Amino acid sequence: MTPLDMLLESRALLEGHFLLTSGRHSPNYFQCALVLQHPVYARTLCGLLAESFRALEPQSVIAPAVGGIVVAVETGRQLGVPARFAERQDGRMTLRRGFQLEPGERVLVVEDVVTTGGSVQEVIDLVAAAGAVPVGVGVIVDRSAGRTCFIHQGRALHLAACHTQDVVSYAADDCPLCRMGSAPVKPGSRGLA
Ligand SMILES: [Zn+2]
Repeated sequence: MTPLDMLLESRALLEGHFLLTSGRHSPNYFQCALVLQHPVYARTLCGLLAESFRALEPQSVIAPAVGGIVVAVETGRQLGVPARFAERQDGRMTLRRGFQLEPGERVLVVEDVVTTGGSVQEVIDLVAAAGAVPVGVGVIVDRSAGRTCFIHQGRALHLAACHTQDVVSYAADDCPLCRMGSAPVKPGSRGLA
């Protein structure tokens, strides 16, 4: 199975005509947690990330909470290194719960899905501020269609994604799917095709 097969099979990725929480309409609905809820898929997808970065010898894995935690744990398990997560406290990404990074520690940053990548960049900056070394970024799905770039010390970090997908959405009063006669459905509704 390809990563796309797993996303479709788990219904993490739906195709149709959806009403997003923003009020916009989209031909896709995406919820990464639905593929990661299945350990066999999480193992395979995180295994792709682990193999992408094994040669860089990461000494730990870190993710922004909450979506990235499962990815960090499974990727860390396959690399045989600790997995940690950062949390937002008073608006700032922070290491809590006694998690510590050593100066010079080689850290792989992971996330379930990136669109603009803001949280991931904050975690990279957190790692750097601790004196540790971000060695790359691994994500299950890159929804920026390859446009996101993560920076450490002025250079782009290596980014690996199991699947890359563009985000398409339309204003509710200018939706080609509505013009073709279908009505949008809320994700999670029963009876989705
Ligand atoms: Zn529509």
